[in-house]
Amino acid sequence: MKKNQFHLPDGVIYLDGNSLGPLPKAAIERIQKTVVDEWGDMLITAWNSAGWFQQPNVLGNRLAPLIGAATDTVVLGDTLSIKVFQALAAGLQMRPDRNVILSDKGNFPTDLYIAEGLIKLTGRDIQLKLVEPEEVADSLDEGVAVMMLTEVDYKTGRMHSMSELTRKAHSVGAVALWDLAHSAGAIPVDLQGCNPEFAVGCTYKYLNAGPGAPAFIYTRPDLGDIVEPALCGWMGHASPFAFDKGYKPAPSISRMRVGTPPVLQMAALDAALDIWDDVSIDDVRKKSIELSELFIKEIELRCPQLRLISPRDSKMRGSQVSFTWDNGFEAIKALAANGVIGDFRAPDVMRFGFTPLYLDEHDVMKAIIIIEKIINENIWAQEQFKRPSSLGGRAT
Ligand SMILES: *Cc1c(COP(=O)(O)O)cnc(C)c1O
Repeated sequence: MKKNQFHLPDGVIYLDGNSLGPLPKAAIERIQKTVVDEWGDMLITAWNSAGWFQQPNVLGNRLAPLIGAATDTVVLGDTLSIKVFQALAAGLQMRPDRNVILSDKGNFPTDLYIAEGLIKLTGRDIQLKLVEPEEVADSLDEGVAVMMLTEVDYKTGRMHSMSELTRKAHSVGAVALWDLAHSAGAIPVDLQGCNPEFAVGCTYKYLNAGPGAPAFIYTRPDLGDIVEPALCGWMGHASPFAFDKGYKPAPSISRMRVGTPPVLQMAALDAALDIWDDVSIDDVRKKSIELSELFIKEIELRCPQLRLISPRDSKMRGSQVSFTWDNGFEAIKALAANGVIGDFRAPDVMRFGFTPLYLDEHDVMKAIIIIEKIINENIWAQEQFKRPSSLGGRAT
């Protein structure tokens, strides 16, 4: 759809945009301009004259339509782990007499670690209750303060129903917090329709804003002026440049800002969002289902030793497909050496992301043929692809 707008290395089929999106060509020039014309020439005046100060809100408004959010309900900044902390802390404060955070066992570890740490800080006797993904609905009861879920499972691509679970959470009086890390830019999200109190997500996966790009946080419009920020940074103050002694939260979503925004990374995000100006997320979703279905069908046919662990029903699946195989680690390494980049998640998951902005059937078919060859001709078993004793690398 937009392949010519991305820098993709020659001879590489990139099936890992679910972990780190590729470089939008426009970001190169945009960052350069921010560095040279703004930082270089405007120096400190750029905070106002180049709009740096407002950038987290301006970009929040650009991103909002992609996740079905209203204007002035989304703001950028910090990393996703921090945004999880802020949203969860706000949710817990809204339910002071309840003592359960409900999540599922497939949730991404940082979300759960943040919850553990936050529980200790609150001094409340809060339990982090983890259930199987299929058991979330039945585990919602009047003890639950916050239901904290990631919509699309990072390992399997399994998708929760945000509308149904949010409705159920609200029916028992729980606050709903959704992590959209693997949703934003991959599938249509309707925050206004589903009505959760909070949502968070990152911009370096399907939104292609680059390593370390700022995360986003959403609060429901009716809560904007009510939630108590747990991180009371000066950029979230009602008048940051009055340098008051006491903290007074800014109106609405601005109170979820913390400190100085990462201006260069915001420039990259701005360029990355340009790509969405004339692409519809519905079209992206439709195409990603087509590519994923093609991939599943052909891989199962050609490599029956691989076992699909993603939902077979495309409506239940995000934009990635995962298979398990005992030799998955070696296979993923051998694939990368042969121009197909997917990734491996312990203990035996081979994960492939489908991103129609820069992938088409032709690329996917090529990848399938290479995978078939690597696996069925035992290329994976070559010495250089052997698994080391300690595993490193990113795990998102
Ligand atoms: C990718 C991802 C993160 C990453 O958090 P950072 O703070 O950006 O490192 C967190 N949660 C989920 C569910 C993710 O998929």
